[in-house]
Amino acid sequence: MRRIPRLSLILLCLAMPAGAQQATDAVPPEMTTDLSADIADPALRASQEAKRDGKSVFAANWMISAAHPEAVKAGADVLRDGGTAADAMVAAQAVLGLVEPQSSGLGGGGFLLYYDADLGELFTLDGRETAPLDATPLLFQDETGQPLGFFDAVVGGLSVGVPGTPALMVGAHDRWGEKPMAELLGPAIGLAEGGFTVSARLGAMVAADADRLAMHPETADYFLPDGVPVKQGDLLQNPGYAATLTLMAEEGVVPFYDGEIATDIVAAVQGAVRPGMLSEWDLRNYTIKERDPVCVEVLAHEVCGMGPPSSGGVAVGQILGMMAAAAPTSPPEGAANATGEVDALTLMGNVSRLAFADRGRYLADSDFVPVPVKGLLDPGYLRARAELAGSVEARRAVFPGNPAFDHALLWADHAGRALPSTTHLSIVDSYGNALSLTSSIENAFGSRVMVRGFLLNNQLTDFSFRSHEGGVPVANRVEPGKRPRSSMAPTIVLKDGKPALVIGSPGGSRIIGYVAESVWRYLNGAEIQQAISGAHAVNRFGRYDVEAGPRAEELSALLQARGFETEITDLNSGLHAVAVTEDGLAGAADPRREGIAYGE
Ligand code: GLU
Repeated sequence: MRRIPRLSLILLCLAMPAGAQQATDAVPPEMTTDLSADIADPALRASQEAKRDGKSVFAANWMISAAHPEAVKAGADVLRDGGTAADAMVAAQAVLGLVEPQSSGLGGGGFLLYYDADLGELFTLDGRETAPLDATPLLFQDETGQPLGFFDAVVGGLSVGVPGTPALMVGAHDRWGEKPMAELLGPAIGLAEGGFTVSARLGAMVAADADRLAMHPETADYFLPDGVPVKQGDLLQNPGYAATLTLMAEEGVVPFYDGEIATDIVAAVQGAVRPGMLSEWDLRNYTIKERDPVCVEVLAHEVCGMGPPSSGGVAVGQILGMMAAAAPTSPPEGAANATGEVDALTLMGNVSRLAFADRGRYLADSDFVPVPVKGLLDPGYLRARAELAGSVEARRAVFPGNPAFDHALLWADHAGRALPSTTHLSIVDSYGNALSLTSSIENAFGSRVMVRGFLLNNQLTDFSFRSHEGGVPVANRVEPGKRPRSSMAPTIVLKDGKPALVIGSPGGSRIIGYVAESVWRYLNGAEIQQAISGAHAVNRFGRYDVEAGPRAEELSALLQARGFETEITDLNSGLHAVAVTEDGLAGAADPRREGIAYGE
């Protein structure tokens, strides 16, 4: 039996039954969806019911967890038929682009982790969007040098980076897929032609965003036919998307990057509200990049994630590394339970702030600026930072550290903001391969510019709008051909070199907190569904965000007494996970969204 540090157990308690209940209650009513009636397949319906009861689902051979039952079904059919995790990802991602168009799709980008069971090795692929070669650090500034308003920058062509998702899907498939592309894209093509049922979540989001969706004709025609927003229960056909996927099945990525779809993307971006500068040359130059996985040892496991241009792997690794360093020594012996709980949250809040301070200063596209990844994850550095976090009070001020580096660095800070869209899927196949993909078009409905049945991203707004602060350059400023800093944190936790947990989430920069907290709970003995259902508390920049729910007021008051500013709010994660246990696979899906986990 592994010894569980006392503080870890206390944090874990936050995830236990009361927490699971709390999370369900916290989902905003308009976003709560009981899709069980829409799931024809009784086995998939059982997964939906398990999630509602706060239980994981179990399987012997393979498992997929994703944000929509139709995507899970498409992936499951592939896995049942002997497909690999890469095959199932292609099928599921193609369906997500249709049924959850607000979150991800062919016009977006993502990061993918793949554990290749044959080689016993973990790989990471960067399918992040890139800035056009004509973009400058002034991209999101007005004539007077002031940053544009966030949504002024988001909506239209200016924010659109070269999409990476088609290349990521095809690249992963070329490397690890077995089944023909046409077969994998078939279910999405069929659904796009025949129509899919608009979910409650999609319906609510279309209604809430109708004004922005109305700004570009192709987008308006699809989401607001005859000026009326599509709503839950409508059957929505997308012939443009079916044709795009058919072309992809026949010709791979060529049409997207050097062909007719590329031409249409460029025309749409240049003809949009606030025209962008994306050119056919930018699309032709695009490649996905293989990067080194970023791994940190935590409680006898290796937590591995995505390095720059994502800040996800480094920040999650720092938080967990600092927790592991600090947790066993605190809280003081004999502390009462409530005190222990708030001690645990205080520590998590403090280490998270320290990780976010480093993120704000150092993390950006490492092909453009030197990023001291090794120094930031060095065990000695993390121990020293953890000592700063060890107090039972909220830290008053938090500064970036001075990690070891091999290149001169002088950067100003960039906190950045990100509103929740994005999707995450986790897969383990019957061969023991594991895949973790976080996939995004950034904001809900991205740039709101639609081409050939899919939405284009607004990922460039993840760059700093300011190029300098007080005369000091920002590492994450816009530069031509650069990839914006991300928070996406697809994660694979290894135990003795083999996958133990596959996990990730949407949620903007809160992704880091959601993933770190869930992995921490799981590594301390929580069942996977409870680890992700448990109420969230996330601290990025000083204010502690406490998830709305029955205990929120109480926790918030306790944290305030420790010196934290707090806010009770909905924390709309979309965690999807597969755990590999001694008894087989355990899958879990976030009760805050519409997904399910399913395996056989
Ligand atoms: N654009 C964000 C990122 O790459 C993700 C957006 C979200 O999760 O809502 O970090």
